[in-house]
Amino acid sequence: MSRRRIIPLILDHPKSLSALARELGMHPRDVETDLKHLLLSVKHTEYEPDIIPSDCRKCGFEFSADKLHKPSKCPKCKGTWISEPLVGLKLKKTLQVSPPL
Ligand SMILES: [Zn+2]
Repeated sequence: MSRRRIIPLILDHPKSLSALARELGMHPRDVETDLKHLLLSVKHTEYEPDIIPSDCRKCGFEFSADKLHKPSKCPKCKGTWISEPLVGLKLKKTLQVSPPL
């Protein structure tokens, strides 16, 4: 499948791997692979990754944003009540310097 078909699904609308897998009718593991490639390949486009990392709902520990799937355990409190990371894309903001009038 074309990875780019994921783009409109997550543009300005970060989603969890499992939600995206349901929507695409794919296995979450395959969606993760596609997303990883997609996030790398958008580097030179007008899009940029917009990732909301997992956090532990027990102690508030925040996981790093490079993990796209839900961690099984919190390294800090060993809790397993962990939110799923949300993966999205957003349009890059180009800094525009307005010309003096
Ligand atoms: Zn924790």
